[in-house]
Amino acid sequence: MDAKFLEILVCPLCKGPLVYDKVAQELICKPDRLAFPITDGIPMMLESEARELPPEEDVK
Ligand SMILES: [Zn+2]
Repeated sequence: MDAKFLEILVCPLCKGPLVYDKVAQELICKPDRLAFPITDGIPMMLESEARELPPEEDVK
């Protein structure tokens, strides 16, 4: 995925920066503890599509 593309992506909830998890293909918002899936290279930037990170999951 294009790094520049990632730079402009922010969390739809808090407008904060997202962490790209290459392995899981997710964009993670640390403050909200949400992981937005990337499907076929397209980030699903919808709260309804996001996965809630369990407390035990380590956020990088
Ligand atoms: Zn957020």
